[in-house]
Amino acid sequence: MSILDKLNEKQREAAKKIEGPLLILAGAGSGKTRTITYRIAHMINEKGISPYKILAVTFTNKAAKEMRERVELLIGEDAHKAMISTFHSFGVRLLRVYGDKLGYNANFTIYDTDDQKRVIRGIMKELVVNDKSLTEGAVVSIISKLKENSVSVSDYEKENRFDSNYKIILECYRRYNGTLKENNGMDFSDILVNLHKLLDIPEVLEKLQEKFQYIMVDEYQDTNNIQYNIVTKIAAKYRNICVVGDENQSIYGFRGANIKNILDFEKDYKDALVVKLEENYRSTSAILTAANEVIKNNKTAKDKNLWTKKPQGELITVKECLDGREEVNYIIEEIVKRKNMGKSYREFTILYRTNAQSRLFEEGLLKYNIPYKVFGGMQFYQRAEIKDIVAYLTVINNPQDTINLNRIINVPKRKIGDKSIEKIRDYASETNISMFEALGKGMEIPGLTSGVKIALDELYTILNDLIELSHEGSVSEVFDELIRRVGYFSYLNSTYGAEAEGRIENVEELKNSIVELEKTVDFLTLREYLENISLVSATDDLEGESDYIKLMTIHNSKGLEFPVVFLTGVEDDIFPGSKKVLFNPEELEEERRLCYVAITRAEEKLYLTHAKSRFVYGEFLTKIKSRFIEELPIEVLDKVEKVQDLLPKSKLSTNDKKITGYKNIITAEDLKKMKNISNSPFAMGEKVIHTKFGLGKVVEISEKKLGVQFVDGKKDIALALATKFLTKA
Ligand code: ATP
Ligand code: MG
Repeated sequence: MSILDKLNEKQREAAKKIEGPLLILAGAGSGKTRTITYRIAHMINEKGISPYKILAVTFTNKAAKEMRERVELLIGEDAHKAMISTFHSFGVRLLRVYGDKLGYNANFTIYDTDDQKRVIRGIMKELVVNDKSLTEGAVVSIISKLKENSVSVSDYEKENRFDSNYKIILECYRRYNGTLKENNGMDFSDILVNLHKLLDIPEVLEKLQEKFQYIMVDEYQDTNNIQYNIVTKIAAKYRNICVVGDENQSIYGFRGANIKNILDFEKDYKDALVVKLEENYRSTSAILTAANEVIKNNKTAKDKNLWTKKPQGELITVKECLDGREEVNYIIEEIVKRKNMGKSYREFTILYRTNAQSRLFEEGLLKYNIPYKVFGGMQFYQRAEIKDIVAYLTVINNPQDTINLNRIINVPKRKIGDKSIEKIRDYASETNISMFEALGKGMEIPGLTSGVKIALDELYTILNDLIELSHEGSVSEVFDELIRRVGYFSYLNSTYGAEAEGRIENVEELKNSIVELEKTVDFLTLREYLENISLVSATDDLEGESDYIKLMTIHNSKGLEFPVVFLTGVEDDIFPGSKKVLFNPEELEEERRLCYVAITRAEEKLYLTHAKSRFVYGEFLTKIKSRFIEELPIEVLDKVEKVQDLLPKSKLSTNDKKITGYKNIITAEDLKKMKNISNSPFAMGEKVIHTKFGLGKVVEISEKKLGVQFVDGKKDIALALATKFLTKA
């Protein structure tokens, strides 16, 4: 019996080949990660190779942890003697030992983004930077990019550019590096850069080459240039290097990953053994056929026909929905249906292209009390930008709310520091006025600089204007005006650099939630809106709960597998992404690889959903299904369910009835209903708040029940129970 008995022939061939360069090139679910895992166990237990000589690197902490656990299952304790980690934690370990060669002390500190910003803030103060549009966050992200592209301070200096901020950034970069060095600190980019520098020191390189004689890299298609150089240098002496990957799953090009690294492996190592795995163990044949067909549309795709012994299994469902709400409801229905047939929540995963798409799903799942967890991202209403805007709206609705006022008093940055805030607070309590009122009396508050006084006055004016607007205007008008007046988007852009786009999308998604409600109930007031979100954003504590649905972006799903996958929002402009992508063949191909990754996560059942129309920044836009759906082979699709076929007239929403004018004609039946109004605790057209479904409008009253229109459809509520669940808004 050998450990390798549990591998197929090809996998075994790869796992046995311990000396020399080896490339395992294979499609999703073919057992690449499994092969590495077994290979490590085999080397240690059956080949007598010291575990200390083994280095295996993977992409995420979660993947590294899983790999360690699996090796441990195979061979026990010895697993922990091998170095199985991410590039970053590998770097940290080595730098703790050899960092002194680069002038670092063994107990250097690691600077996270917040620390980095703090350093830059200090430097910008020294430099007296007056340009408000240049925030510390932007400078931090520029510096990280420079570092990761191996542009040193002196390289950057040679660029000698003319753009306005160049000189400032250059000086920040120089001083920032100085400060970190003085403080014996490294940021995340430094870890990789310094690890690479270590390898330029001959005696260190020699030691490391001697120590790590056997190297393995998983997800090699997503390594960037520095990572590539690190691996190449350490492996140069013994050349026992095994890399594993799939060109068709390269999805981090936008972050500097270089797909050439895997494509050129055979050039780098002319004697490399190349093993191709073709049997997929993860998915049914229907799912696999779909994945194979979609990726074929990429010109750069390498032909790798994956096959499986598994039966065809369930066909793939492509579901066209009226809008995002229907998409959510459909998915929840399917989950409930399957749960009733014996599945657990943990077997379902909802995938989407961008984080902002999670909002509708979260709201839906909360309403139906279905436990869920958002992976690799925060729950929608917990995100900083959402909390900021909600805090503003709360203050506009209720200026006495000091907690929320404190949150936004210096967001966007107005140079109102903690000390100033303290003075304002003191003044307010001494003169017995609210904090908000104190903003308007900035000029009288002792000890404030004139800059702060002006800032307070500006903020006070903006808030007052918005309060006034909220009395006459709609919530979405207040929202738009708020974003514009405080310059919230430019704040996000300058604070978060490359990350800003996703945050702006989140804010736009919040606007969508408002417009949706406004369409459901007439004359939505700010108070009603805020009450409604306090309902939908209440998060149940998942502590101790292990059975929940997973929600994540496709990027975060890399390397993982799930029984049932819902791939959502499969529409042009979402997936593939923005228009830019449509005209850029390379980016389109990266999106298609992402689609391949998504499809191949599914083991048993795959759904693709798309909506015919969707709110996009408060407007109902007609949406076209993604080209990726057209690329699916028809023979593995469940009959494509179209909106028209599915919805009998009786199921049309009240909005549709309105459009046809149906509602405007008073029929005899209507008269009968109207007579009954006296029995109902709520009047026709009245706004009500339901304990679960939030804000709605009474659209029907009959002898026994009320029909209430909520954002996600009309619900009937028994008159007898009406007051239990409904209150007047
Ligand atoms: P990805 O490209 O998505 O990272 P992968 O190629 O790394 O996929 P694995 O995750 O290693 O694939 O394997 C996919 C699934 O197939 C796992 O559940 C794994 O245990 C199973 N599997 C792989 N090879 C075999 C085998 N020879 N016998 C039984 N199960 C296998
Ligand atoms: Mg894998």
